[in-house]
Amino acid sequence: MAQRRNSVESANVGGKASASSAHRPSVPALEDSPEALRTLLEKSDSWADFDILELERLTEKRCLVWLGMTTLLRFDVHKTLKCSESTLQNWLTLIEANYNAGNSYHNATHAADVLHAIACFLDADRVKDYCTSLDEAACLIAAAIHDVNHPGRNSAFLCNSNAELATLYNDITVLENHHASLGFKLTMSDDRVNIFKSLDRDSYKLVRQSVIDMVLATDMSKHFIHVNKFNGVFASRFDEEGASPSATPINKPDEPVGAAAAIASPDMIALNEIVPPNTPENVAILKRMLIKCADVSNPARPLKICKEWAYRIAEEYFSQTDDEKKLGLPVVMPQFDRTTCSIPKSQIGFYDFFITDMFNMLDAFADMPQLTDIINDNYIYWKEQNAREQEQQEQQKRESDILIEEKEEEDSGSNSN
Ligand SMILES: [Zn+2]
Repeated sequence: MAQRRNSVESANVGGKASASSAHRPSVPALEDSPEALRTLLEKSDSWADFDILELERLTEKRCLVWLGMTTLLRFDVHKTLKCSESTLQNWLTLIEANYNAGNSYHNATHAADVLHAIACFLDADRVKDYCTSLDEAACLIAAAIHDVNHPGRNSAFLCNSNAELATLYNDITVLENHHASLGFKLTMSDDRVNIFKSLDRDSYKLVRQSVIDMVLATDMSKHFIHVNKFNGVFASRFDEEGASPSATPINKPDEPVGAAAAIASPDMIALNEIVPPNTPENVAILKRMLIKCADVSNPARPLKICKEWAYRIAEEYFSQTDDEKKLGLPVVMPQFDRTTCSIPKSQIGFYDFFITDMFNMLDAFADMPQLTDIINDNYIYWKEQNAREQEQQEQQKRESDILIEEKEEEDSGSNSN
């Protein structure tokens, strides 16, 4: 951290647009930007004090290029890749332009949010011990491209509707394959945006492999495979208690148990004393975990932001369900029907199934209790909201039961007359 540039002094988001990004207005130079924007970007290396929604408002939905420049320069990505700052900015502008602004959730603000999260994770001392500057660059690039050109519908929808992308990728990890592939296609499309053009062949191969690996790891159908691998190598080793929940393999229904079984071996205590070597495979397991946590880090955000993300993703899912009903396709997320959905209930299920365990593991390794504390607080909030909703439903049911009873009494009274 200390040797990195200050968040804002580093960001010189200048006004030079490349031919490839000419369809987007260039962003003004940081020094000419409003005080509020500079103040906000100054806090972009903080987890709790940075407000992505405020950045979205101040930049008129140009979060990815503003936060991207601030963050990539803070991590000296241009030096690692031996590219100019303007190439970096052209690249961010092009990637941002290829996110669908019409998606309520999977748009460029989400990409910027994931970039912010992974940058914060990279600042953790234990993570730093495992990551080279090329690993850091790969993490930040992967975050920026990880949902590029997301159609606002999930992979199951694309498969069920025989979409071209599903055919191209044989129904396998369809969206993530598309994001990774398009990310590289855009990057290589023009020298003015090609952030990799000065890298030697071996470094390029490494960064490409790493970025693809991370983007593919955001496929939630592989969730338990990745977190159990991470737990096996990292989380349980660093857990001082050795037997806390974070050391317990997650063994949810329908998930492979191979990796999990290995963790529960009697050698556990001995393993706890060994620091995992930073082999390429272990570093890959760590980076997959980082992008996965960053991708679903909404529950670890302050409540106001956490709620806004929950409503945005629900809206995108509602819209998919609307389409599925209209097109006569299978409804793949029946709980996300706008006529019946309880958002608090869906959030509680999400925390229970995916979030709480995964962030406990991240905390056990990277020592980020602030995140798990916020998750616990937000979980309590959704529980309270859920209880309130249930109370309202019961009240409505009682009232309608009374009305029915009164109607029946009225009817039987008029019949006997
Ligand atoms: Zn995402």
